[in-house]
Amino acid sequence: MRVVAIVRRELRLHDNPLWQHAGGHEVIPLFVLDPFNQEEHGEPLRTLFFFALKQLSQQISQRGGHLYVIAPDQQEAFFALAKPDLVLFCEDHEPHLRQRDATLVRLLQRLGIRYQALQGSTLSPMPKEPFKTFTQFYKRHFMPNMANADPTPYPTPHHFRTPRLPFPEVTLPQPQSNAAKLWLATEEEVQRRWQKYVREHLSTYEQTRNFLTEEASSRMSPYIRCGLISLQQLWRDAKEISEAYVRELAWHDFYAHLLHFFPETVNTEWRPEWRGFPWRHDEQKFEKWCSGQTGIPLVDAAMRQLNEEGWLPNRVRMVVASFLTKHLQIDWRWGERYFYRHLVDADLAQNLGNWQWTAGCGADAAPYFRIFNPLLQGQKFDPNGDYIRRYVPELRHVPAERLHQPEPLTTVVPDYPPLMVDLTAAAQSFQEIAQTHLKRSNRED
Ligand SMILES: Cc1cc2nc3c(=O)[nH]c(=O)nc-3n(C[C@H](O)[C@H](O)[C@H](O)COP(=O)(O)OP(=O)(O)OC[C@H]3O[C@@H](n4cnc5c(N)ncnc54)[C@H](O)[C@@H]3O)c2cc1C
Repeated sequence: MRVVAIVRRELRLHDNPLWQHAGGHEVIPLFVLDPFNQEEHGEPLRTLFFFALKQLSQQISQRGGHLYVIAPDQQEAFFALAKPDLVLFCEDHEPHLRQRDATLVRLLQRLGIRYQALQGSTLSPMPKEPFKTFTQFYKRHFMPNMANADPTPYPTPHHFRTPRLPFPEVTLPQPQSNAAKLWLATEEEVQRRWQKYVREHLSTYEQTRNFLTEEASSRMSPYIRCGLISLQQLWRDAKEISEAYVRELAWHDFYAHLLHFFPETVNTEWRPEWRGFPWRHDEQKFEKWCSGQTGIPLVDAAMRQLNEEGWLPNRVRMVVASFLTKHLQIDWRWGERYFYRHLVDADLAQNLGNWQWTAGCGADAAPYFRIFNPLLQGQKFDPNGDYIRRYVPELRHVPAERLHQPEPLTTVVPDYPPLMVDLTAAAQSFQEIAQTHLKRSNRED
């Protein structure tokens, strides 16, 4: 049998359903370079992605195979030449990628080629109907399905039998983002980091996950995004050690399922009553937020970390998203796009779901009156101020107690930006506007 295995975001050898036939059959690994993704994705994600793809291509070559790289409009000619008995690909849940899959399926049907769409970017299969709350999704869908999941990993291929096809290939881009440098890792290195995390920190994940220290969370999200490690492996290794970690993996599935069932949430609020909310479009304030010049130490530290390293701990993602949407009342879509272009783990479903959750307009979202106070969050999760001082060097001599106080820091550090809003007044203003808007929407229903 001859199999074409289309690689998308599963850039690994280990535990990969795409290589399930590599043992005895001819396998042709194929990557289709999608111009839409090239325009859509930010440089940090593209840098890690193409780094990982090239690693995979080398690993395949070292095992006797070859990863073909072609453009979308070359697919028909490629299949005509390769004449596969079967085409394998992993399904995705982003609207553009579902359209791409539908086009591919039409082409394969027209050519009379058998295909199999595999489950790739989620742990549990897509449910038949959507769930409105995470708890229902977790109890009624995720847990029962995972209880029956096959725990055996897919075998790692040691040899590829790939026929040599005379086909003109395209060159892979070479994006170079400084922010992504910290994250470039081979599949082996990712395995080492994960095993170390499991051995040394996973059992205390529930207690530490919100603290702003290096080992507080697993930092696997960039590798999940590019498939350098399988979600199934994370689940298998974590399930006996940390239920809290498994719940977070379930959130990942929950947001993928939301985007699958509600593709319109790419640019509109999941909760209809939030549509038409008078979000502000103040470019000057937005720019201060983007560049970490708000005068609020935790927000500035987080935004500077994002710009420098392309990644943020979950706690500060929530704090800066809440600050932008609630204190500044700026459109969540602006923040979502900024994150998407700057995160090394940028994932449409995860980013949208979390932004809407924080803004209050998403499924199972934080209610409008839940507004994170960035000073209290700093006090709680960065009590010594080490995180703030690391990313905001102007504040390196300021003692921790002072970093979390409402008084502006410009009196002690003149070159630090002044506070851009009065936190109490801004929170109150958001609550009033949200209450009025929601009342009006509910009356109109
Ligand atoms: C505003 C905002 C935007 C976000 N954008 C993205 C994004 O573009 N891509 C992305 O992968 N994550 C996103 N997240 C979710 C979360 O912040 C990251 O997945 C997490 O911080 C990654 O760090 P970690 O691997 O150390 O996570 P850990 O705490 O070690 O968790 C393990 C895994 O569980 C999953 N997980 C953890 N928290 C969440 C969550 N809140 N939602 C969904 N899955 C979760 C991730 O796959 C994560 O890698 C966003 C969160 C917020 C609040």
